Amino acid sequence: MIDWLYEKTGVMKSYGREDREYNVTDLFICRKKKMFRDAGYKQVITVDNALRGRVIGQLVHKGMSVLLEEDGWDTGMRLEKKVGDYLIIGKPDAVKDGVVLEIKFQRYFKEVGDVHILQTGVYLNMLGLKRGIILYVAPNAFEEVYIDREVSDDDILWFIEHPVSPFSKWECEYCGYRVYCNTPL
Ligand code: SF4
Repeated sequence: MIDWLYEKTGVMKSYGREDREYNVTDLFICRKKKMFRDAGYKQVITVDNALRGRVIGQLVHKGMSVLLEEDGWDTGMRLEKKVGDYLIIGKPDAVKDGVVLEIKFQRYFKEVGDVHILQTGVYLNMLGLKRGIILYVAPNAFEEVYIDREVSDDDILWFIEHPVSPFSKWECEYCGYRVYCNTPL
């Protein structure tokens, strides 16, 4: 059943994108990671609890989706927007009454992540909305953060055209592509 759980939650799935296609999440992750993933490299997760954390995160999202849908939230929205020469693709967790909601499961909540604020800001831009909520779900805390500023098209282009590897300092430790990468930890 454990393999089934990994399979069902899709935590090891690698899917490619064209060069000029970016998921909203791709904008704020290590660019090398996106390159490995888009080229079809298979992930190798060496930190066991990182994988379990991903599985639990997926289960939290799926459970929350059921509850949110009961209350009229749209949890299946797929967005596309052309920004410059790039196609941005996004799947916000939930949208209702002019509010976009992002759910973030964490093993331990310490602080609000810049990456999460930026992602939510891109969704506000793509949806033409002004109100976003990031809901953190962690064993040590439930936190909600209100976001009222979109990330503009110019800023999206800036992030695409100024790639960094890694984007966040913790990324390498949990990265499924570390075995192929020469960036020192
Ligand atoms: S190991 Fe670090 S630098 Fe290399 S692909 Fe992964 S996150 Fe990026």
